[in-house]
Amino acid sequence: MIYFALLLLIGFLLFLNSQFKILYASKNKLRILEYHSISIDGFQDQITIRKDQIVEQFEYLKNNKYRTLWLSEVEDFKNKGISLPPKSIVLTFDDGFLDNYTQLFPLLKQYQFKAICFMVLGKIGQKVDWNGKYINDNMVLMNKQQLIEIGSHIELGFHTFKHDNYTEISYDEIENDLQLCQELIKKENLNVFPALAYTYGAYYRKKDPNQKQFFELLARQGIKYGLRIGNRINIFPFKNTYEIQRIDIRGADSINTFKRKVILGRTKLF
Ligand SMILES: [Zn+2]
Repeated sequence: MIYFALLLLIGFLLFLNSQFKILYASKNKLRILEYHSISIDGFQDQITIRKDQIVEQFEYLKNNKYRTLWLSEVEDFKNKGISLPPKSIVLTFDDGFLDNYTQLFPLLKQYQFKAICFMVLGKIGQKVDWNGKYINDNMVLMNKQQLIEIGSHIELGFHTFKHDNYTEISYDEIENDLQLCQELIKKENLNVFPALAYTYGAYYRKKDPNQKQFFELLARQGIKYGLRIGNRINIFPFKNTYEIQRIDIRGADSINTFKRKVILGRTKLF
C-alpha cells in the first residue's frame, strides 16, 4: 500500500515537472499557431477568424512579450546551435487567402509581427478550388504581386500544388506535385522557404509502414520541415523535423481559449 502511494507521488511529481517545463522553461520551446482566413463581415468558422478576434489575440501576444519568428530564422538558430529567444512563437496561415494580404499584412505591420503563409502554389491568384473539391467563387488566393509585396513581413512556405491530401495519392504523384511546386517557384522567381504544411494536417503517422519512405521523399525534394496539427508545444531543436506540431486556432475560440492554447498548447491542463 505504501509503495503504491509512493509510486503515485512520484508519478504526480514527474507530471508536475513536465507541466512546469511547458509553462516556465521557455527557452527551448517553440509555439506554432495555425490560422487560415480572416473575415471582416462577422463570419467565423473552423478556418475563419474575425478580424476583431485576431486583433485581440495580437494584443495579448504583444502585451505578453511574445516574439514572432519566421521559420527561416528558427532554422538559423538551429544551425548556429543556439537556443531560441524566450517566448518565441511562429504565426502560420494556410492556403494563402487574399484576406492575408488585405487584413493580415496591415496588422503585421502595425504590430511589427512576422508570419508565414503556406501557399497552395498551383493556385496563386486563382479562386479556391482544391482539385475539384471545396470550390468557392468568393475565396481567392493572393497573386504574385501581392506575394512579393508582403515579403517584408510574411515568409512563404509550401502547401502542395493543388491542395491534394498526400496520404491519399501515390508516391509518384506526391513527388510530381512537389516538383511542380519547385518548377513554379523557379519560373515565378519566388522566395519560398522549404517547409511544407500538410494539407488537412494529413501525413504518414508513426505506425504507418509508409512513413519512412514518405519522409525520404520529402528530404529528396529539399523539404526541411513538415508541419502537422498536433496541438502541442514543440521542444527545440525539433526531434523530428517532419512532425512539427502546430496549435490550431479556430473562429469559435474565445480569448481565454486562445490564451490557454498559447500557454499550454491545448485547452485543458489535464
Ligand atoms: Zn489547406
